[in-house]
Amino acid sequence: MTNEPTRDGAAGATPCRLCGGPTAPAFSARDRNHRISPESFRYVSCAACGTLTLADVPADLGRYYPASYYGVPDSADAAVARDENAAHRLELLRGLVPQGRLVEIGPSYGGFLELARRAGYDVSAIELDAGCCRFISEQLRLPVTQSDDPAAALTGPYDAIVMWHVLEHLADPAALIASAAAALAPGGMLIAIAPNPESLQLKLLGGRWAHVDAPRHLALIPLAALAGEGAKHGLEVAWSTTADEDALRSNNFGWSGSLAASTQNETVARGLRLGGELVRIAVAPVERRGQRGASYTIALRKPSR
Ligand SMILES: [Zn+2]
Repeated sequence: MTNEPTRDGAAGATPCRLCGGPTAPAFSARDRNHRISPESFRYVSCAACGTLTLADVPADLGRYYPASYYGVPDSADAAVARDENAAHRLELLRGLVPQGRLVEIGPSYGGFLELARRAGYDVSAIELDAGCCRFISEQLRLPVTQSDDPAAALTGPYDAIVMWHVLEHLADPAALIASAAAALAPGGMLIAIAPNPESLQLKLLGGRWAHVDAPRHLALIPLAALAGEGAKHGLEVAWSTTADEDALRSNNFGWSGSLAASTQNETVARGLRLGGELVRIAVAPVERRGQRGASYTIALRKPSR
């Protein structure tokens, strides 16, 4: 890959992971969510598009992805039941793309994918993890491509390409957007959910924000930057928000998770989580306005011919 950020040299030498523009130091963050290592990771901010890019990408990034705490589900029903976001995401999808060919990038064990199939969509998946691919193929009996390069794996044409909290993990998000634009059928939509770097929480918590999730999150892309990247390939913003069901859940995890991660004492963490819940309730009116929520949902449409 070209323009690969390096851990050597000044942070300013790291180009923006989305647009390749010049960057300046933003903040440092540790792996507070999983504590795989005690290292500190630097994020830099793009002067052109505002994207936050992880400058210190570990060579052994796979080591920072812990195995699923809950293990492999034992049935399709269990996969659906485990995905607490599947139902409201399906409702979102139906409002934007009522039917057709759907591909999900990064479906994990496919809870949403299975629910979309039951709702009548013609579904397929692109997934990195071998165990998840095996489950989707053997238990759900749905078509899945195992790949760490979703931009190359998209075939199309698709009526919907969905990515739920995947964009921030990608080595080359711009390549994915370009590939998605080419793979969409006319009128089709790329629908993504991602952490919002313009959130109130990032402003207040900086590197301690749970949704920074260093070093797993390689880029935190502002809504406008993603819309701009889509526009380069002819995609238009059909809809966006930072105050839907997903954003409200992200707000909750952002406050409770960020506070609880300050300690390894479970009793103290429980108290801090409760404290986070109170903060969330107190600031809810502010977080709901002006695109300040902890995550956003955006739908980019390829114009009909
Ligand atoms: Zn940029």
